[in-house]
Amino acid sequence: MCPRGARLLVGDGGLLAPARLVCHCLLIEGAEGLVLVDTGFGLDDVRDPRQLGRLFTTVVRPQVDAAETAISQVRELGFEPHDVRHIITTHLDLDHAGGLPDFPEAEVHLLGRELEASRNPSWRERPRYVAAHWAHGPRWVEHEAGGEQWLGFDSVRILPGSDAEILLIPLHGHSHGHTGVAVKRADGWLLHCGDAYFHHGEVSTPPRCPPGIGAFAAFDQADGAARRSNRERLRELAERHSGEVELICSHDASYLAAR
Ligand SMILES: [Zn+2]
Repeated sequence: MCPRGARLLVGDGGLLAPARLVCHCLLIEGAEGLVLVDTGFGLDDVRDPRQLGRLFTTVVRPQVDAAETAISQVRELGFEPHDVRHIITTHLDLDHAGGLPDFPEAEVHLLGRELEASRNPSWRERPRYVAAHWAHGPRWVEHEAGGEQWLGFDSVRILPGSDAEILLIPLHGHSHGHTGVAVKRADGWLLHCGDAYFHHGEVSTPPRCPPGIGAFAAFDQADGAARRSNRERLRELAERHSGEVELICSHDASYLAAR
């Protein structure tokens, strides 16, 4: 599912060519009910895009549409919002957490470090976190990496009592508590890398990244060294385990087009 594309003033061709961005959310159906990974923009954002802030709306120019919100797409699939029992957020940036108010009954899983960052943002980080997205009082479930390993990465198993194998894979850098989410499928693993990278070329071998997207990623990072290091680890993972792990990121529309 893809809560609405946005147009960013940096693109594949350079600094001024617009690029179409999407925000990939995953919906996982299991015995525990539905698990939603990221929420994109929500209905409140559609009703009042100004709550996203002037900087974001000016630079990214989001095209919010109620039909493309996660809640609308969940309903279109024949489910009710309360069927979504768990939400996992890769991080709490406004374009990933906007739909939280649409699922007030869900438990919201994230790394504790990200919740802390959202509660005490530096002046530079303030535009990325929109307090209205959690004014309803989400049922936060904070996680920390505890030594479990997954293909060389730290990992935290979500829903340990369930059959669903869903892991948080901490990937700090874009934000302080940013995480990937690994989901076991019948044919291997899907790793949703959130905003750990923005363009599929960044995890290709040899790596490549359109300069405009690279500049935007650097502008939007909390810890540049950690972001670049984790991006390189993801590239190595993709190279070593190409038949076993499929990587996607949040905003590269080519992944959606390939489905
Ligand atoms: Zn994002």
